[in-house]
Amino acid sequence: MKQAKILKILVVDDIAINLELQKAYLTAAGYEVIEAKSGQEALQKVRDEKPDLILLDVMMPKMSGYEVCKILKNDPETQFIPIIMVTALTSVEDKIRGIEAGADDFISRPFNKTELMARVKSLLRIKFLQDQLHQRMQELSEARERLQQLAITDGLTGLFNYRYFREQLEHEINRAERHNLNVSLVMMDIDFFKYYNDRNGHLAGDEVLKHIANILCSNVRKIDIAARYGGEEFALILPETDKNSAVIVAEKIRKLIEDDPIPHEERQPNGKLTISMGVSNFPDDSRTAKGLIEIADRRLYNAKQAGRNVVIAE
Ligand code: GH3
Ligand code: MG
Ligand code: MG
Repeated sequence: MKQAKILKILVVDDIAINLELQKAYLTAAGYEVIEAKSGQEALQKVRDEKPDLILLDVMMPKMSGYEVCKILKNDPETQFIPIIMVTALTSVEDKIRGIEAGADDFISRPFNKTELMARVKSLLRIKFLQDQLHQRMQELSEARERLQQLAITDGLTGLFNYRYFREQLEHEINRAERHNLNVSLVMMDIDFFKYYNDRNGHLAGDEVLKHIANILCSNVRKIDIAARYGGEEFALILPETDKNSAVIVAEKIRKLIEDDPIPHEERQPNGKLTISMGVSNFPDDSRTAKGLIEIADRRLYNAKQAGRNVVIAE
């Protein structure tokens, strides 16, 4: 077993001579030893020092070893610290009580030094493997979380991607059906973006996409879903929002993009970098995701026909 750090063992016993003996054995074997003379003190030391293993005397006044063991094994913070019960008793009943309290192993006094060391070593090995497993599981769950986040995120803008947008639109429609709510959808498309790319280069175009994504993110509520729908198209799902309110949000964003200084925008056909929008609403316009998208898309097309840089909702 590879073990870089010095392992810490808590020895609990109300009798000083017992403590000394165990401490001598364990220190000689290279362990760091901390002591407690009562159950109460043991609980405190466990919290403060987080030992790797506990040698716990059964017979102590006030709080017995069984009680201490039960408390530690019922606490998620301490339940994985191995406990060896140290007892002068050898009856089966005592062992059963110890097992019921959650003890991992027993040793009877007077104990043999070699036996004590063998038991300590074996439990520490299990603890080490358990800790490793726990750490791996944690890493795995973090990796899974990152992967899940990646799978729903657009790489360039950091907005949600198309797939997540479709999922959430269905989800919000279902929720609105159940609770009699509104959902609004805003589809957006940058005006003369091909022109912008052709004049200023694709990389400058990418910067504009990121810039607009930022404006979207920072001007919607937490429950709204801002997504990159396609190349230079964005979509906004506004749960619990009627059409009038959706138009207000859309107008605000349209105006922000119009007014925001964007590099080279003065070269655009209309002298500014702008965006057109189409709005649709559940249940006013359609009760399905497909229907809402088609209608918002048609209105977006109408916005382009109407001269761009407008929001159309009817
Ligand atoms: P309109 O006002 O009618 O929307 O005109 P437009 O030029 O924006 O429309 P069109 O659909 O003809 O062109 C869209 C352009 O968007 C084409 C492409 O150059 C650009 N585009 C699409 N995806 C990206 C991208 O990821 N990065 C950059 N820089 N440009 C993109
Ligand atoms: Mg387009
Ligand atoms: Mg466009």
